Amino acid sequence: MTQIFSGRIALVTGASRGIGKAIARVLGTNGAYVIGTATTENGSQGITKGFAETGINGQGLVLDVKDRTSREKFADLLSAAGHSPLILVNNAGVTRDNLFLRMKEEEWSDVIAINLDSVYHLCRICLRGMVKARFGRIINISSVVAFSGNPGQTNYAAAKAGMIGFTRSLAREVGSRNITVNTLAPGFIDTDMTAALSEEQQTSLQERIALGRLGHVDEVANTVKFLASDDASYITGETINVNGGMYMV
Ligand code: NAP
Repeated sequence: MTQIFSGRIALVTGASRGIGKAIARVLGTNGAYVIGTATTENGSQGITKGFAETGINGQGLVLDVKDRTSREKFADLLSAAGHSPLILVNNAGVTRDNLFLRMKEEEWSDVIAINLDSVYHLCRICLRGMVKARFGRIINISSVVAFSGNPGQTNYAAAKAGMIGFTRSLAREVGSRNITVNTLAPGFIDTDMTAALSEEQQTSLQERIALGRLGHVDEVANTVKFLASDDASYITGETINVNGGMYMV
């Protein structure tokens, strides 16, 4: 097995299922020590167990990115263990869809907090260690809707588009320290998030995809693997679209 991430710690938020779980697995099977997060103790234990069963070095930890106490506890645990992640994948995300005129303030603020504010908080936790190591890879998981827009998703599209501006700005700030910051914008990927869509919505979305099918979580994870690897050392501030030709930017 190629161990391209040997000696590196990777932190993946939202690693209990879906895309984050696949990202954690791919980074782990390629040699990284992986810290994967879930919002519950059960979820974090599931991650630790999953890693042990697949021979991945790493552990699950509890983190609710929206909750200050949870973030502080998480940061304390990381530093107490001496873990300084040099690969950070900001993957945790939620949708709270509603047409704008009906959208409650909580639906707006939850989505901004979990999808966008979290990127600020996690970068704050990891960046000092990356600067010290003069190496870092930050990969932010955005979405095709940052570009295309989507009715019912003003909150989600705003958060996901915000990540792209954040990525470009931070990339300019930390490039001289050999830290790259990139965004990956998935299209329609087969996970719990898209399973929530009706069959009618799924069919109509699939008709708009050039490859005529949903994406697989591993197709996103393998792109993260590339961005985290030394092969991507001269790519920063970029957004890579992994959407099967659903929306060509
Ligand atoms: P998913 O299956 O719904 O999983 C979401 C993950 O985020 C879970 O691990 C969940 O943890 C975690 N999470 C939720 N709320 C959190 C919070 N407050 N604090 C910390 N973690 C939290 O989602 P997915 O489809 O894999 O999506 C992963 C990322 O890709 C998201 O950012 C999403 O916006 C983006 N994306 C997905 C698609 C798609 O088609 N699926 C397309 C474009 C972009 P728990 O298990 O503990 O709840």
